[in-house]
Amino acid sequence: MPFFPRKPRYTIVKVAKKRDIPEDLWGKCEECHELIYNKKLDENLRVCPKCNFHFTLGAYERIKLLLDDGTFKEMDPALESLDPLTFEGPKTYKEKLKKDQELTNLKEAVVTGEGKINGRPVVIGVTDSRFIMGSMGSVVGEKLTRAIERAIETRHPLIIVSGSGGGARMYEGMFSLMQMAKTSAALSRLDRAGGLFISVLTNPTMAGIMASFASLGDLIIAEPKALIGFTGPRVIEQTIRQKLPPGFQKSEFLLNHGLIDMIVHRKSMKDTLSKLLSYF
Ligand SMILES: [Zn+2]
Repeated sequence: MPFFPRKPRYTIVKVAKKRDIPEDLWGKCEECHELIYNKKLDENLRVCPKCNFHFTLGAYERIKLLLDDGTFKEMDPALESLDPLTFEGPKTYKEKLKKDQELTNLKEAVVTGEGKINGRPVVIGVTDSRFIMGSMGSVVGEKLTRAIERAIETRHPLIIVSGSGGGARMYEGMFSLMQMAKTSAALSRLDRAGGLFISVLTNPTMAGIMASFASLGDLIIAEPKALIGFTGPRVIEQTIRQKLPPGFQKSEFLLNHGLIDMIVHRKSMKDTLSKLLSYF
């Protein structure tokens, strides 16, 4: 051992014990890839503070946002899908239903009922894109049709908020395709009875949903930057072997081309609906 021990040539940095940061504290914006503090995102109604991208909302969150407190009365909360084809894939339809029911606490991909918007009674339906991509099987079609019929009976305006990346639900084959015709026919009866239907499109509204009730509104409103269309842009590009124009199938593009009537920020959605209802 040397007589004069040399000082070590490095410095010791004391590191405080790393605290565990729960993973659900931060999220990433799909559009601008910015990290966002989840609490801040919730306070901002799940709209990205940086780029205004509207994140998806669950059906009950949406209802809470649009209807007056304590006015929502749900219709047909217990309706559940059967498995008419005894469908088997990598997962059976039954397994898929069970998994998504546990994940979302919903029985099916749509919630319907009656409530009030700034004191005005409405019938409302909201699809939830977390449940088998918000796709339309027999139960979704049946619940929406009953809601439309309720709007005819009560003569109250009908609002359907769509958030569905999937269209007709392939697990139910032609039973799900028939729901497109069924909901459309019911809406035509509502129209003949002089009823009002406002369709609200959120990210994403695609395929059989867009090809049936979602595009049949007397007024069609969309949230900003929502993907709205029939087939996804990638598939179209592969099919036509051409590059699509920028912003193709986004709300802003569709407003410019006349498919939708207005784009409304989530913060003003309730007041805009209320104002529109006052003209009815
Ligand atoms: Zn963003």
